[in-house]
Amino acid sequence: MRKKIIAGNWKMNKLTGEAAELAAAVKAGCAALSDVDVVLCPTFTALKTVSDVIAGSSIRLGAQNMHWEKDGAYTGEISAGMLRDLNCQFVILGHSERRQYFHETDAIVNRKVRAALAANLTPIVCVGELLEQREANQTEEVVTAQVTKSLAGLDETAFRRTVLAYEPVWAIGTGLTATPAQAQEVHALIRRVLAGMCNPGAAQAVRIQYGGSMKPANAKELLGQPDIDGGLIGGAALDAKSFVDIVRAAL
Ligand code: PEP
Repeated sequence: MRKKIIAGNWKMNKLTGEAAELAAAVKAGCAALSDVDVVLCPTFTALKTVSDVIAGSSIRLGAQNMHWEKDGAYTGEISAGMLRDLNCQFVILGHSERRQYFHETDAIVNRKVRAALAANLTPIVCVGELLEQREANQTEEVVTAQVTKSLAGLDETAFRRTVLAYEPVWAIGTGLTATPAQAQEVHALIRRVLAGMCNPGAAQAVRIQYGGSMKPANAKELLGQPDIDGGLIGGAALDAKSFVDIVRAAL
């Protein structure tokens, strides 16, 4: 039985005061909901603030990106060790916005995944096709390549610790959502790919989130699909009530 995991990706939003308020409201709303793993991923500048607010609760802290090197001359970058130092346990890697605007390739994502795991961070590895790729019937090919390359070289323990997020790019921030059947089809595909890379037992243990305009109104049906083990939430995570309602839908 895979425990559901709901993560809020706050992207480049919220000053520290606003982040503290949002985190406190989520903490209050989730106080009795321990059957779901809840992760908040604020921007780097709010990590310490949110860490302090959620201390003592079951809510976990995640970052939205990191560099693959431990330290060195990488101006503007943040290492896995620095994230651990602020109590992060998760890190989102290979988000489509990083792939699109910052030219992150699967090879780069793979280096980051390995560095995150080596530092005892759980990577949330994002994959997903563009609209034109879906329309050209390339979803299977694109997602298979992303999963295979992003997770290349991981051993069974590493596979079991990794979380994946299937995020069709055409559904992110657009208000368009994959239908539960469309999402389930790709989640099942990802699990088959994982089974081929590692073994069926490990593939069954890996949690695969759906992301792309998930909101309280559509969360229950999406989360009810057999291979959908949670959600990576963007827009709806910026509002405490919406986010907590999605966490409730995962119960
Ligand atoms: C995301 O950015 O990961 C995401 C799923 O965003 P949204 O929920 O706004 O579509």
